[in-house]
Amino acid sequence: VTSPLRRRASSRDIRSESRLSVLHAVLRAKEASRAEIAQVSGLSLATVTTVVSEFMAEGLFAEGTRIVGRVGRPTLTVRLNPSRGYFVGVDMAETSLRVDVYDTALMPVGGHEIPWDDEAPSAIIDGIETLASTVLGEAGIDRTEVLGLGVCLPGLVQGTSTTSIVPAWDWHTRDLGMLRDRLGFPLVIENPLKAVATAELWFGRGADSSSFITVNLGTGVGAGIIVDHTMLRGATNSAGEWGHSLLMLDGRGCRCGRHGCVEAYIGAPGIWRTLREIDPSHALAPVDNQFDFMVGLAAAEPDAQDATVEETIARTGYYLGSALADLVAVINPEAIVLTGWTSWLLGERMLPVTHDTLQQQAPGRSADDLVLALSTVRGTAVTRGVALTALEHFLSTVGLLTTRTAIAL
Ligand SMILES: [Zn+2]
Repeated sequence: VTSPLRRRASSRDIRSESRLSVLHAVLRAKEASRAEIAQVSGLSLATVTTVVSEFMAEGLFAEGTRIVGRVGRPTLTVRLNPSRGYFVGVDMAETSLRVDVYDTALMPVGGHEIPWDDEAPSAIIDGIETLASTVLGEAGIDRTEVLGLGVCLPGLVQGTSTTSIVPAWDWHTRDLGMLRDRLGFPLVIENPLKAVATAELWFGRGADSSSFITVNLGTGVGAGIIVDHTMLRGATNSAGEWGHSLLMLDGRGCRCGRHGCVEAYIGAPGIWRTLREIDPSHALAPVDNQFDFMVGLAAAEPDAQDATVEETIARTGYYLGSALADLVAVINPEAIVLTGWTSWLLGERMLPVTHDTLQQQAPGRSADDLVLALSTVRGTAVTRGVALTALEHFLSTVGLLTTRTAIAL
């Protein structure tokens, strides 16, 4: 039995989805006519016209004109109104703090990055407040013009008030409340996996695929899963922790406490361990840290005929392909996009083995047409992604979106 309440909820969601589609189309095209938006989004011209009016009423869209051809008549177009306000993206990583400010068209207008190694909530709140004020000041932006701020914190950002937000840092909801009060901006919290996947959805793969997975390979590994243009979050916002799914029963110990996790094999420390298992006396075995190791591994030329390096890369590509086949078995995406510093360093060399393994191990023909590629979204994808999440949250506070967003205060 369908209750009237349920029906009303679903019809609101359809309007919300239409608005997101129109926003995506305009953001990507930068400027488009209503007919072009209808074509790209698959929506009717009437729906596009209604949605465009709604965005204009909020000051988010502005009218433009474009002359087509030398003697053509001007075409009325729609573009984002960059002066409507600003969104701040904060990337609080394990070793650095980065703040970028974006206008409403999601174009960067200023940014700064500083080294960071203090995980005490009060120090982090101070650090974010100071750096955000500096960046806003340099860009000449008044605090009243900031419509939202998104903060990316490392690790599992969980969505229930009863659990800690970032378990590894012992961060709790009250810390976020303090951050919200200090900054005075509407606040959203996200983890890097979902922020990068959001950037990919709006500015990368999302243009061609409705269901795709952004796989982040670095010290840790994880996935941002997009199904039907929507982030998969799960009951406690923990969906995508694929790095802690099982690759090897009773295998290597993982930093999460479990044995045999994907991350223990294809996280940077795991790749280092693979090399040491193949040849404990190799020149890269005793280097100081995982970053130096990975740079050294990537710098070893294929024609140098270093069998240990080649075997390490081949095994890692095989582990990755096998672990991705599990993702394909569960999600069946159109594309898998690799991102993160391991992907930039080793991705090109791992891709052939990873691709073949994935094709062999994915169930049936589920991966026949699957696109496996490196991400084209580089640079400040984390701050851009979390600024987009802040924009989504702003749209929900003005009643234009009802889709579930990240943790918001
Ligand atoms: Zn684990």
